Amino acid sequence: MKWLIVVIGVTALLIASSRSTPGQAGKTEITKWQYGKSGAVSLTYDDGSINQFRVAVPIMDTFGFPATFFIITGNVPGSRYHGTFVGRPTRAIIQETATVLTSKDNFFERASAIGFLGYKGTLEYHSRAGELYDEGKNQDQASRVLDEAYEKVRRGDFTPVKVREGFPQDGNNITWDELRSLANRGYEFASHTVTHPRLAVLDDANLVYELEMSRQEILDHLGFKHTFSVECPYGTEDERAVRAALLRYQVARNLMPDRDVDDLDRSSNTNPVGSHKEYVRWQRGPLTETPTELMKSWVDKTAAQGNIWLVLVFHGVDGVGWKPKTGAELRDYFGYIHSKEQSVWVATFQDVAKYIRERQHGGITTYSDGEVISVVLRSDLTDLSYDLPLTLKTYVPKEWSAVEVRQGERTQHVDVIRANDADYVLYQAVPNAESVMLSRAAPKG
Ligand SMILES: [Zn+2]
Repeated sequence: MKWLIVVIGVTALLIASSRSTPGQAGKTEITKWQYGKSGAVSLTYDDGSINQFRVAVPIMDTFGFPATFFIITGNVPGSRYHGTFVGRPTRAIIQETATVLTSKDNFFERASAIGFLGYKGTLEYHSRAGELYDEGKNQDQASRVLDEAYEKVRRGDFTPVKVREGFPQDGNNITWDELRSLANRGYEFASHTVTHPRLAVLDDANLVYELEMSRQEILDHLGFKHTFSVECPYGTEDERAVRAALLRYQVARNLMPDRDVDDLDRSSNTNPVGSHKEYVRWQRGPLTETPTELMKSWVDKTAAQGNIWLVLVFHGVDGVGWKPKTGAELRDYFGYIHSKEQSVWVATFQDVAKYIRERQHGGITTYSDGEVISVVLRSDLTDLSYDLPLTLKTYVPKEWSAVEVRQGERTQHVDVIRANDADYVLYQAVPNAESVMLSRAAPKG
């Protein structure tokens, strides 16, 4: 063991003493965006409605675009976890509502249980109370909605049902088999909870159930890679809900608390051009009435500004789902984004989040002896998810016109880019893996 330390010490000394190559050859940086582009665009879809797959996917395929789908796992046929109430018997809760009004002491339990009492029509009261609380912070009004609902339950106003509410019965849902084949083609799937509730009004046990069981379902059907991202329904910014989500997923679309990221959500009117942070995560939600010209201007800004990650949030497509866009509009818009691909990197939600974090947590050491430049790319991110290759830019000697880049088993041949001040190459490297070796190569035919 002692010998190993001595050897490492000597190597370090050699590296330090032989850095004085002429000019700046060997100098290396991680480019701000993948492939040295000027910004990023992520296409994201919420709720998993059927035309996202039947209409939007074939259009995206023609452009080779990846995308991210936030799916409600309880809606997919064959899922193990469905909407339920986690807690004491609901009969006891109903009985109690006859004598005790809803207050802060029982609000969350009652809001969690109301949709899952076994009656048709009660889930709507969860949504109404949840909206009042989540968007207006009005717990009193929300409590009265629950009182009304439980009174109706006690009076027998609702019809008992055997089948859970919210469970698909029209046979028009995407299956896990189809999702798996889309996942194999590079599409990202992500959690949009089990039943799409108002998380802000769930008690801790039910909040955890919605977040963890949807993650488990996705893990079982699609694998670890698709457990990276989450979107808490209705774009909630409720602190307790979002904090719980961020404990269980690497990234939430609701909030990206990273220090170097300005986070502008869908409802924000702040112009991203005014941001001076390293990155701006700019979310825009195209709705039925949103003009395509406005949508195109978001892409233009992303291409021009340099620090924008444009996150587009789509819901319905061709008449199915909330505020749908038509397939024709999507084809036109995606064609426009495709025409800007020289400047913008189109990538899944998780890939852009990974790129930003790996770069922010990355460190580079280089060594050059004139013949070979070796580059070590390290990152202090410990989670195994962070294995996305990054784009490195390394300056090379004037005489080089093409470079062979080797990292482990992988070899890339890249041409030297001649710039005013220096000559450099762009290539891909994985952090926390083998050293990258750059050597002079014959120019490509
Ligand atoms: Zn949703």
